[in-house]
Amino acid sequence: MSIIVKCPICGTIIEDEPYTECSYCGWGYTGVEVCYDLDEKEDYNLMSMDQAKELVAKGLNIWGEPLPKGPETK
Ligand SMILES: [Zn+2]
Repeated sequence: MSIIVKCPICGTIIEDEPYTECSYCGWGYTGVEVCYDLDEKEDYNLMSMDQAKELVAKGLNIWGEPLPKGPETK
């Protein structure tokens, strides 16, 4: 049984495995997001969580592509 967590960027349910990519926003979950400041550039995703959230708010994933329709959490 796998443990699940919420994507720190968009809240989509993802598996609590290091380097799991969120299926919605594309964020690579590292498992250590709690250790980072929101505006600190994250080495694995090459952007800060604030930047990623900004993209999601604009309807884009972290690669700048349109998000899939409808967040999976709602
Ligand atoms: Zn996400």
